[in-house]
Amino acid sequence: MTDTVTLDVLETWIRHSAGRLGVEADRLTELDSAIGDADHGTNMKRGFTAIVAKLDAAPPQTLAEFFRSVGMTLVSKVGGASGSLYGTLFLDMARGAPNGTSMSADDWSRVLSAGVAGVVGRGHAQPGDKTMIDAFTPALDALSRALDDGAGLAEAAAAAATAAERGSADTEPLVARKGRASYLGERSVGHVDPGSASTAILLRAFADAVAGDAP
Ligand code: ADP
Ligand code: MG
Repeated sequence: MTDTVTLDVLETWIRHSAGRLGVEADRLTELDSAIGDADHGTNMKRGFTAIVAKLDAAPPQTLAEFFRSVGMTLVSKVGGASGSLYGTLFLDMARGAPNGTSMSADDWSRVLSAGVAGVVGRGHAQPGDKTMIDAFTPALDALSRALDDGAGLAEAAAAAATAAERGSADTEPLVARKGRASYLGERSVGHVDPGSASTAILLRAFADAVAGDAP
């Protein structure tokens, strides 16, 4: 368990995310086959496999370098909406990151918010549009609420992950208003949004990493 987000924590997070996305790739692709083009699982798996290879080859030396490296890889290796949106998330996290090699829980909350603001700036999705924003928004709320209430990083990160999982499940009855799924209109109802599901996986992996539960 740690109360500081160090480069080591971030590296554990991203490696664990890559493992989880590998395990969940088929499920993510199945979700995307219902309301998209059946590539979300393969997109995410390909992107995170490339990120891990890059971390091995060129270990980042600062928080900002770390986030920038992840973001650049996502933009260049992942096609589709999710590549540029998750890429923007990490590139804007790089911009918001404090100098150095570690940050507090409050810093983490601010940095993640800055990243999500970047995703909204690029994709213009609002909560309820049936996108990854429906996982990120309740997660950010839960994270800052938990920290304001005096929770430590691990507890706050777990609350954020649970809120993201719930937010993702809650996309099922929604009509998609952004991205490829929006072409289906009412026919998108009854399916969980794939991007919200991958966001929940990433935030659960972060909670595992700070709790010391990641491999
Ligand atoms: P593509 O739709 O190009 O095939 P992916 O299948 O990898 O890309 O990713 C689809 C996911 O991207 C969706 O499930 C949704 O969560 C997310 N997404 C699409 N458009 C937007 C948007 N404008 N804002 C936020 N998220 C979006
Ligand atoms: Mg797709």
